[in-house]
Amino acid sequence: MSEWLEVGEDNYVLVTEGSLLNTGLIVGSERAMVIDTGCGPRQGRKILDAVREKSQLPLVVVNTHAHYDHFFGNAVFAEAGVTEFWAHRNCATDIEVRGDVQRRFVGTLEPEMSAAEGENVEIVVPNAIVKDQPVLVDLGGLSAALFHLGRGHTDGDLLVGTPTTLFVGDLVEQGAPPSFEDSYPEEWADALRHISALRHRYDFLIPGHGKLCSDQFVKTMAETMTTAVRQARQSIRDTPSDATKAIPVLPYGPEQSRWFIKRLQETRRAH
Ligand SMILES: [Zn+2]
Repeated sequence: MSEWLEVGEDNYVLVTEGSLLNTGLIVGSERAMVIDTGCGPRQGRKILDAVREKSQLPLVVVNTHAHYDHFFGNAVFAEAGVTEFWAHRNCATDIEVRGDVQRRFVGTLEPEMSAAEGENVEIVVPNAIVKDQPVLVDLGGLSAALFHLGRGHTDGDLLVGTPTTLFVGDLVEQGAPPSFEDSYPEEWADALRHISALRHRYDFLIPGHGKLCSDQFVKTMAETMTTAVRQARQSIRDTPSDATKAIPVLPYGPEQSRWFIKRLQETRRAH
């Protein structure tokens, strides 16, 4: 099952068994903020029930990015009366355009969601939009800062910061290699260095999945990705006809390395 961990005053993280999604909860005096809603109505309902053990206040929702395990539970919250769903602009667009096609990833975990049949299986597109400037959401006596550090794990990653705690979505994952499928590797490395530099401002850093992360963990992740970008670029320069030559030199498994190179080539900045 799932349990709440207190991560700073009025900040909590719900560690969910299975996908190990970390749902965040920030409780103000007037409203509470839920960060990421799970992969369908079943998990969404569990998250909502768990939230209601902690707080009866009106809720606002944040989706950290447009991957199904972070927003497919939105409809449960909409049915429960939530009207404010926050996301980065690109994330909201992506959910609108590609939300439906992600149903095939859910499988037996959420059969209603994958079949689009039953209650609370609609795609709920975020309607409260963060662009390039940070947005402060007042929860009553406590504000959450929603901000974007550029493209990284996706093109619409949103971070949520409170006086004690930084929720970073899948920009940082603990216990699993980074997921590069929709990523911008060079910019992700930059974002990680940025997070690493900000880390001292917060007592707790909550990754999208897995355990709480130390300074060192984020620093290492940033350095590893920065090095990987350099190595892959070098290797692509050496053998432009066969970019897969770079795979063995990269610090990731073969599957991640293949995605890393593919995305690096598709998303290259001009040098
Ligand atoms: Zn993700």
